[in-house]
Amino acid sequence: MKTIGLLGGMSWGSTLLYYRAINEGIKQALGGLHSAELVLYSIDFARIEAQQQSGDWEGAGHVLSDAARRVQAGGADFLLICTNTMHKVAPQIEAAIDIPLLHIADATAETMLRDGIQKVGLLGTGFTMEQAFYKGRLTDKYGLEVIVPDAADRDIVHRVIFDELCLGVTAEASKAAYLRIIDDLASQGAQAVILGCTEIGMLVDQSDTSVALLDTTAIHAQTAVRYALKNAL
Ligand code: GLU
Repeated sequence: MKTIGLLGGMSWGSTLLYYRAINEGIKQALGGLHSAELVLYSIDFARIEAQQQSGDWEGAGHVLSDAARRVQAGGADFLLICTNTMHKVAPQIEAAIDIPLLHIADATAETMLRDGIQKVGLLGTGFTMEQAFYKGRLTDKYGLEVIVPDAADRDIVHRVIFDELCLGVTAEASKAAYLRIIDDLASQGAQAVILGCTEIGMLVDQSDTSVALLDTTAIHAQTAVRYALKNAL
């Protein structure tokens, strides 16, 4: 089995979900007492969030590149960045390491293509919903059509992520708001909605809605398990 590298802590609550899902996936595949070979470096998220706020993406990229090198030095065979948003600096991180990066948008897009989904709604931080690094990868590399909520609803989705979910808080009112926004995206023709932030699965899951959900945390973790158990990335 390959050793999975995790760059986590963004937030740590979602990294817990990765750790559980990866170990459950390995146990399911191999049985018995099997568990994942894994190296985790967990960042102090306050530092990264401050850099997001000030627009210092290059500085954040340096911090994450340094952490990624530590994951590699710990023996990881490939790397997962356990947040959608910080894939904005994925090229900088990739350039700093020799091991391959398993990109969260690639894992998600491959699931969509497999399921025959062409038009998809996207929920995530404002950075993820509004900037090209994520949406552009889905459209340009995979030919998918991506729609996002309007500005007022993007604001709600973003605020709930940073003011609640990243602090470990799940509120019924926020869940209701997310479910309404998911319904809106479906009524605009989205065949599924990407939970494009690694904390959203704490708030809503497939049992809450008839709209198909693509939970990037679960998809990324499952894809890592598959790669860990086969010979090539
Ligand atoms: N975990 C979140 C994501 O998947 C947000 C935290 C961050 O800004 O990295 O985008």
